[in-house]
Amino acid sequence: MAVLPICIAPDPVLRKKAKRVRSVDGSIHKLIGDMIETMHAAPGVGLAAPQVGIPLRVIVIGIPEQEEITLINPEIVRRRGERVVNEGCLSVPGYIGELKRAESVTVKGRDQNGKEIRIKAEELLAQALEHEIDHINGVLYTDRLESKDDLRKIEPEETEAEEKEL
Ligand SMILES: [Zn+2]
Repeated sequence: MAVLPICIAPDPVLRKKAKRVRSVDGSIHKLIGDMIETMHAAPGVGLAAPQVGIPLRVIVIGIPEQEEITLINPEIVRRRGERVVNEGCLSVPGYIGELKRAESVTVKGRDQNGKEIRIKAEELLAQALEHEIDHINGVLYTDRLESKDDLRKIEPEETEAEEKEL
């Protein structure tokens, strides 16, 4: 496994609609391993393949003290409720934004073995799933801010902001 460089906005790969994975083969397993290592090294709680320059529909999520989740070709099938969250992105370093996300989401996709899975999520996991699925559609959280005033610079001493980087 290897730590890959993270693409930073306005890199055009972040704006492409990523392609579906047709078969979960060795190259996809290698990509997933590298993405998990890159996410932990950043550190971040989620990463989408376009953030490491690969325009494929693959995401990984690693919330502290929870098992890592890998999803291939994920789709949100249901969104419920609305809440205001703080969010940052490894591809938009140094900033944090306030925006609305769902209270809960249901996502379907395939796991790292190609098996179909469905996840119902709340709180940070729901937020991370929405954020990473936005990435594979070429969307950044900054697109979802109601106004520019909702984006602010992270202060150097603000270490908990790291927990919000996706
Ligand atoms: Zn991001």
